Amino acid sequence: MSLTAGVVAVQGDVEEHAAAIERAAAARGREVAVREIRESGIVPDCDLLAMPGGESTTISRLLHGEGIAPEIRAHVAAGKPLLATCAGLIVASSDANDDRVEELGLVDVAVERNAFGRQKDSFEAPLSVDGLADDEPYPAVFIRAPAIDAVGDGDAEVLASWDGRPVAVRDGPVVGTAFHPELTPDSRIHGLAFFENDTASAAAPETAE
Ligand code: GLN
Repeated sequence: MSLTAGVVAVQGDVEEHAAAIERAAAARGREVAVREIRESGIVPDCDLLAMPGGESTTISRLLHGEGIAPEIRAHVAAGKPLLATCAGLIVASSDANDDRVEELGLVDVAVERNAFGRQKDSFEAPLSVDGLADDEPYPAVFIRAPAIDAVGDGDAEVLASWDGRPVAVRDGPVVGTAFHPELTPDSRIHGLAFFENDTASAAAPETAE
């Protein structure tokens, strides 16, 4: 069965996320059609969703203004997967520590925007991420990234930390990363978020199950 993926396209690396979803699907022999989401009415047709980075204040305003926010909440409430990256994680969080962001409350974490400081605006780090298909470190690209400050008492679990601070989390059907998994050829994070128990890494040949 072909899957429909949605990439929230109000801002950010839309094409890169679409390509990463396609690579992760192909590595599992799955077919996927990717749709860009700029207006309401598309999310209900999607089996899985990615919410890219960008500027969290802008993304939040547009999602609420366009009526997309309640649709994303309904998607997650139905148990369907969402990958929220960088500013997407800030918007999906339960506390952005910034009044200009109206959080979706889908990942029970508090975040600190731009947590890694000015000198380290942008950097790459080899991360050990729980649940990845193999033990190879994940090459994580951070760009003015948030850090996770606090994790709620419920289901949310930290998947990876950097510099002593959590930077990847899972809360039920939602995976949130402070970094940009769409910016490397390694699609294991998309595989983890969308194809649970993924056994294929980005380098794996295309195989049917
Ligand atoms: N610094 C941005 C914010 O706080 C996030 C940056 C990003 O998504 N790369 O919204």
